Order: sequence, then structure tokens, then C-alpha cells
Amino acid sequence: MSKHLFVTGGVVSSLGKGLTAASIGLLLERRGLRVRMQKLDPYINVDPGTMSPYQHGEVYVLDDGSETDLDLGHYERFTSGPLSRKSNYTTGRIYLSVIEKERRGAYLGGTVQVIPHVTDEIKAAILGLDAPDVDVVITELGGTVGDIEGLPFLEAIRQIPLDIGKKNCAFIHLTLVPYLKAAREAKTKPTQHSVGQLRQIGIQPDILIVRCERPIGREHTDKIALFCNVEKQAVIEEVDKEFSIYEVPLGLAEHRLDKQICEKLSLPIGELQFDDWRDLVQRVRNPKGEVTIAVVGKYIEHRDAYKSIYESLDHAGFAHSTRVLVKRIEAEEIERQGAEVLLAGIDGLLVPGGFGYRGIEGKIRAIQFARECEIPYFGICLGMQTAVIEFARNRLGLEGANSTEFAVDTSHPVICMLEDQRNITHLGGTMRLGAQPCALKPGTRSQAAYGVSEVSERHRHRYEFNPEYRKQFEDAGLIAAGVSPNNNLVEIIELPDHPWFVAVQYHPEFKSKPHQPHPLFRDFIAAAIVRHQERAQTVLNGGVSSSNGTAAEERRAAHSLEP
Ligand code: GLN
Repeated sequence: MSKHLFVTGGVVSSLGKGLTAASIGLLLERRGLRVRMQKLDPYINVDPGTMSPYQHGEVYVLDDGSETDLDLGHYERFTSGPLSRKSNYTTGRIYLSVIEKERRGAYLGGTVQVIPHVTDEIKAAILGLDAPDVDVVITELGGTVGDIEGLPFLEAIRQIPLDIGKKNCAFIHLTLVPYLKAAREAKTKPTQHSVGQLRQIGIQPDILIVRCERPIGREHTDKIALFCNVEKQAVIEEVDKEFSIYEVPLGLAEHRLDKQICEKLSLPIGELQFDDWRDLVQRVRNPKGEVTIAVVGKYIEHRDAYKSIYESLDHAGFAHSTRVLVKRIEAEEIERQGAEVLLAGIDGLLVPGGFGYRGIEGKIRAIQFARECEIPYFGICLGMQTAVIEFARNRLGLEGANSTEFAVDTSHPVICMLEDQRNITHLGGTMRLGAQPCALKPGTRSQAAYGVSEVSERHRHRYEFNPEYRKQFEDAGLIAAGVSPNNNLVEIIELPDHPWFVAVQYHPEFKSKPHQPHPLFRDFIAAAIVRHQERAQTVLNGGVSSSNGTAAEERRAAHSLEP
């Protein structure tokens, strides 16, 4: 039987519960345990697939096509256990299942209630991850203790020790200990209240992880232990990390968190195999150089909207011991101020995925600038579609070329709706989703990056490259470097006569890990490093470049003089 570890949070949201849960998963795996991660989200949406990135950040897609919470991205980046539909449940999904059962008559005329019917459904979701090859299931509960919508979940996890035995369960609660500048003191009262609320529900946490800006010291942790009824050693401070999120597990290991969990759950304590992770952190702390990548998107001010993209850029930087500085640019700003102004001094451009017309023209102008100035370009999903539109308009002369997502009656629908999407009316879970095979064309940059002839990548889109235009594009130098195995769908485009111009219809950012960067991100950053060095060389040469006068070349020459 699998053991269960529950991670809850209190005091404030955005405490980094997902990161902490993922770090715990990593530490347990590195002690030789087989771990499965799970997130329970108390909101009523059935999944985050239909939620605005402004409100909810990125939608993280799994191989099986489930659209999940972005914390699952942390789980995959830190741990290796497989994730699936079973790894993320919301209140909406739980209730949908209960109501469907009720309509089928499964409750035999009984009154359907939160306790026991909804709580039983939640418990089934949690225990559904039990398996002979799983030692520990780590279930993170979204939201904060005290939220009305979280109550059925807390009630369900309160009951689980009664069902499977207290020795098989452990509870970790994450809180905040704020530092009050005026009082020059760290304050433990919010933590006491939060644990008090948990205990009222009937949950006594075994371990408390207290987030703090600076170390709070034994005096405070001992006080928290006394007031919250936990052992002194089980109050662990998690101080904000200066360099990167990948340092979090190191801090937790120093406090023997992984050992304490193993002891609580009577699990064998293997030796911690952690040297590669420590090396990674050392590399992150000591980069040898830096590059600047512009990310031109629509949800730029929301840090979590392109979470996996930013992480993947970092991972690629780690591989080259290079710090990747991201210049986040609102696409509409490019429409207002022009690409030359906003993209000055960059070493690479990335346009991420997205939906809807707003900002599209800005993205197209940014891509044109990168194409003409030979700046490395990496397009992802909508970033591939906009690259196709740009090329159609500016190289093929197809005036007004567009995607039918933005202009239904465009005279040149170079991006159009996928055949099997045409009759779909429902929004939730109906896109082309999840892992799809892609055959790579020999001799392309993509094939060189991956080093294999076929890959599997995750998708989330409704529109595609219009195959009727494929020959016209290929004749003009934009090639299909990756296609679906039946050759019908174009999955990767490349410009072979550009230093590095690759755009993909899928989402490579969902498959990058800190010590295994995604090959395309890795090579994109390699190209950006080359560009950075060339620019530095041009400055050293006193700005002499080989321009011979065409408009694009002059633009290119002018750009390479940017500091
Ligand atoms: N809106 C585009 C489509 O649906 C791109 C989607 C995306 O970037 N994820 O095809």
C-alpha cells in the first residue's frame, strides 16, 4: 500500500506550495522512493483549460492531453514519476462526477451530500494513485486553510488516516512568518492562527514549513513548535532563495525534511543521491556569460502566464553556463513603438503561444524584424502561426494573409482550422491536445538538435499550417522540418538561410527539465550566444560591418551596432 503525504498552506496564497511539494518529491526520489504527485484545486472550473492566463497563469498540458494547473509543471521539472488526468482534480471535476452519478441513479435514491458523497469522491481521487510501484503519494491542496471552497478537501484528507491508518499518512503545512520592519521582528501569530484553524478541522500537522524573507532562528521556530503542538525539529524555515527556485530542495535537505518524512511514514531511509543537483545549483550561481532574449507576448505582466517558457529558457542557459536575461515585451507595445525600438540589443526573440487577435500585428512585426536582422527566432504554437503569416505577407507577397482565427474571410488563409475541429462548439478540453508524434526531416536544425528521426511533443491548438500553401512556402525558403507521420500536418518550420529560425506548432516548454534542457531551447540559446559574441566583436571592430546597402542589410547592420 502507498503512503500519503498531504501539503496544505495557510496565512497567504502564493507561498510556493507547489515548489515546496515538488522539492519534497525530488528529495524522496533521491532517497530511492517511488513518488507520485497530485494537486487538488478547490475552484469550480472543471479544469484550468478555459481559465484566463491573467487569473490563473499558464495551463500546463500533460502527455495524455489533460489541461492542468501550472504546479504540475514544477512536479515534472523536479520529479520523474508520471503524471496523468489523475494528478489534478478540481471541485468542478469532483462535483461533475458526483452529479453524473446521481443522474444515473448510482446513489439509489439517497440524499446526496457533501459528507459523505463529495468527500468520498475526493478520497477516491487521492487513493486512486495508490499502486504497488508507488511508495508515496504527495497531494498538494491548492488555496489556503480557511477558504470556504477548500473545506470538503480538508475534511476528506482528515478522514484518510482513519481509513488507511495514521502511520501511513503525514501532514505538512506551509505558512508565512512575516518580518515587520517597524517592530524589527518576525511574527509567528499568523502561523499559530493558521495551524489553529487546521486543528479545528481535525488535522494536526506533523511538520510545519515556514516561509520567511530572512532566517528567523531557533527562538521563533521553537515558539511555533510549542504553540502549534509539533516537535521542535519539525518546524523548518524556508528562506527566500536569491538565485533560483532550484535551490529550494537544498535548503529543505539541510533541515533533514526528507529524513523526517521517511521516519514519520516508516519508510526506508536510503542514502540521498544529490550531487548532480548540487552541481546544477553551483552552475546556476556562477554563470560565465549572459544573453538577452525578448519574449513578445500578450500576458507579459503576469509572471506565471508563460511559466514553463521562462523555466525552459533558464534550463537552456544552465546547459551553457549562461544567464538568460528575459526582456518581457507586450506585443501591443511593438505596435505602438515599433520593433526597432523595443527589440534593440536583444540576442534572440521568442514568441509564445496564445489565443485571440490582440497583439498579433505586434508579434508579426517583431518576427519580421528578427527574420530580416538575422536574430535567432524561436516560435511556439501561435509563435509558429504568426511566423507563417509574416513570411506569407512579406516574402510571398500574399497581401492580407492571416489565420482564420483572426480573419475568417482572409484572402490567404495560410493558417486555418484543423479538419477535426470544425464542428466543435464546446470550449473545454476540445482542442488538439497532448502528445503527438512528429517526424523530423534529415539535415534540418531541429533534427540536429533532437538527434533522432521522430519525437513526441505536446499540443494545444485548434489551427494549423494550411497544407495548400506548403509548396509555395518551401519554394521561397521556408521549409517544413517536422511533420505528423502521415505528412499531413506541419509541426515545425525553419528558414535554412537564417542563423536560427525555428518555430513549432507544439509546446516544447512542457518537456524541459533543469538538468535535461529541451534540445530546441538549448540550441536556440546557443544561437543567441553566438549572436551576442558577434555583436560584441562588431563593437570591438569599431562598428564596421559588411553591409552593402539593401534595406534589410542596412537594418541588420544598424542593429548589430546596438550595445
Ligand atoms: N490560437 C492558436 C490555435 O488555437 C494557437 C494556440 C496556442 O498557441 N496554444 O491554434
